[in-house]
Amino acid sequence: MSRVVYVNGQWRPHRAAMVHVEDRGYQFGDGVYEVCEVQGGRLVDERRHTERLLRSLSELRIPLPLPVSALSVVLHETVRRNRMSDGIVYLQVTRGVARRDHGFPPAGTRPSLVVSARRIDPAIGAATARTGIAVVTLPETRWARVDIKAVALLPNVLAKQAAREQGAREAWFVDRDGFVTEGASSNAWIVTATDELVTRPVGPDILRGISREVVKDAARAGRLTLVERPFTVAEALAAREAFVTAASQIVMPVVRIDGHAVGGGVPGPVAAALRAAFHRHAEFS
Ligand code: PLP
Repeated sequence: MSRVVYVNGQWRPHRAAMVHVEDRGYQFGDGVYEVCEVQGGRLVDERRHTERLLRSLSELRIPLPLPVSALSVVLHETVRRNRMSDGIVYLQVTRGVARRDHGFPPAGTRPSLVVSARRIDPAIGAATARTGIAVVTLPETRWARVDIKAVALLPNVLAKQAAREQGAREAWFVDRDGFVTEGASSNAWIVTATDELVTRPVGPDILRGISREVVKDAARAGRLTLVERPFTVAEALAAREAFVTAASQIVMPVVRIDGHAVGGGVPGPVAAALRAAFHRHAEFS
């Protein structure tokens, strides 16, 4: 089945889906993105992803090049045209195409919008969740506004590659005070020995993950004790459980950190329960 991609108002075959070399996303990383899960042909948490997109755009003063209602049509049409059941939709808005100059382009420059979709077999994530993943820790090297979901992801790219080279699936950034900020593409959580579910509070130093919000709702419904505070790597190593959340991973148990076993090296019941409950607390459209 051939994939199609939405590029600035047109549907293109995947192999021919292109933006101009002077697109500011390509030249400066001057753009934002969203990744939305698709389950059973429906978008998961479209409303919250759209809200976060609008916030990222407004922080960078990039206008959305079409009404929100039209964007929703494009997102659903991307799923439909690609005959997708399960996977992800990727959306990117950049400041548009203009002669290379660091300052903003002339008023009226049209932002670029690209929407693509990728199938992912849910059985793969489910199998990984049964064994859990390894993470490595690295010093935080990102800019001070990672709450903006910007396409400029160089530190995340390097961190993910470092993880891969050490046989791990994710990297956790650690701030100057020794506290975990978040993963290279996920939010980080632990379950302490006293059964507290701990995750870092939102601020400019982490992305406000949509899955993080859904897991908070699931935790409240499950009467878990949720504490939003930073935690250290040592705390994570001593924790009963650790896990990460992201639209593409839902809730993914972490069983090793820097080569040391967490929670006996096997996924724990809290992560499993939150993963099982996740889609009951998400919105479908
Ligand atoms: N933090 C970072 C740096 C991310 O890249 C992501 C997702 O890609 C997340 C957190 C999780 O966000 P969400 O749950 O909205 O997918």
